[in-house]
Amino acid sequence: MGKILKISAPDGPRKKKPMSRLGARHMPEMMDTNHAERCRNKGCRSKTYMRCTKCKMFLCITKKRKCVQDYQR
Ligand SMILES: [Zn+2]
Ligand SMILES: [Zn+2]
Repeated sequence: MGKILKISAPDGPRKKKPMSRLGARHMPEMMDTNHAERCRNKGCRSKTYMRCTKCKMFLCITKKRKCVQDYQR
């Protein structure tokens, strides 16, 4: 006695969306100034001509460091 109800769940292929999206991208621009500004990223003392147009912060970008990308408000 007793019926076994089989609940068949839809078993489609699961697609995972990559959540590697960065919220706001920094947009560095080269400033036309005579003297370099100090990088505003924490712990960085490099001089830079690059400034983020969104943050309005001077941030350096070199081979070793990418403060423009690392910098967060
Ligand atoms: Zn920025
Ligand atoms: Zn820096």
